[in-house]
Amino acid sequence: MIKIPIYEPSLSGNEKKYVNDCLDSTWISSKGKYLQLFEDRFKNFIGVKYATAVSNGTVAIHLALIALGVGPEDEVIVPTLTYIASVNAIAYTGAVPVFVDSVEPSWQMDIEDVKRKITAKTKAIMAVHLYGHPCDMKSLKELCVEKNIFLIEDCAEAIGSMFENQHVGTFGDISTFSFFGNKTITTGEGGMVVTNDETLYDRAVHFKGQGLAQHRQYWHDVIGYNYRMTNICAAIGYAQMEQIEHFIERKREIANLYREQFLNTNIEFHHEAENVKHTYWMCSILVPDDKSRDDLRSYLSNKGIETRPLFYPVHTMPMYSRKFQRHAIAEKLGWRGINLPSFPGLTNEQVIEICTAVKDFYK
Ligand SMILES: *Cc1c(COP(=O)(O)O)cnc(C)c1O
Repeated sequence: MIKIPIYEPSLSGNEKKYVNDCLDSTWISSKGKYLQLFEDRFKNFIGVKYATAVSNGTVAIHLALIALGVGPEDEVIVPTLTYIASVNAIAYTGAVPVFVDSVEPSWQMDIEDVKRKITAKTKAIMAVHLYGHPCDMKSLKELCVEKNIFLIEDCAEAIGSMFENQHVGTFGDISTFSFFGNKTITTGEGGMVVTNDETLYDRAVHFKGQGLAQHRQYWHDVIGYNYRMTNICAAIGYAQMEQIEHFIERKREIANLYREQFLNTNIEFHHEAENVKHTYWMCSILVPDDKSRDDLRSYLSNKGIETRPLFYPVHTMPMYSRKFQRHAIAEKLGWRGINLPSFPGLTNEQVIEICTAVKDFYK
């Protein structure tokens, strides 16, 4: 039986009130006041000019790539150590994902490897702020400007994270977020595409709503998609935005407690670089060797503590492994990492219980 789950959304704000408002007013589909309220609050929080809500974080990435005009013949550089959705969204466009390795101790994409992988076909670089730790956005941005390549940020795991006091999602030409049930804020399923570029915003909105032409009803001038969010989801999202500062603060407290507990042990807690704010979507550790990783996970599971392995590097998965290349750091992290319970509702006692169990295992 699970005593401490890996994640649990916090829904004790105005979620119920706003959802009931949707039901009472019958505005339950993809029009209604909460969409505007949610988008406005979201873009003010991040500090961007434009935001458009979509039905999940995967289609947010697809839509962002479509807005950039990414398609067959193009290459998009992406870290191999990421959630599968980052890479699948590239594949949906017909473009080729080109994998790069990670660096320690941040576990983010390796800029030197990015430089090696740029070709004449590289249309965009996708930064993924893995587990809530920002990538090196200064180097990435400089590189993209120099080479005239688009920069897209997959911020699904990093809402509120900052690189040199600037929100992730504001560095790229276009950026995306996810509001799945275990993300830092949730709408059940949901996502957001943000940008400071009016043309990219217009393109995203156009493709999100079936490619509807601007000046004639039921006239469509591109093959679009239905990637819209519902007013009900936006109502939940708006209520979540009212609590986001608290969620992030509590997640950082929990992370600091984990870090303290693992000091002077053989467990390496996820590092936070000096010039960033990590929001710890997941609190992650590296264990000393890949052999003990799964045994530790079963040991914790027997104590009712749910864990997850770190993402397996995508270049090792069958559909993406045709041109197999080693990505040594990502492979090491993927086989030695564990995500521990990381949700804002965890108590300090629960965190200590988890850490004690991990330490007992290695005694
Ligand atoms: C969660 C996640 C997504 C996709 O989000 P969904 O809302 O589940 O579609 C994309 N990229 C990363 C890195 C994620 O963690």
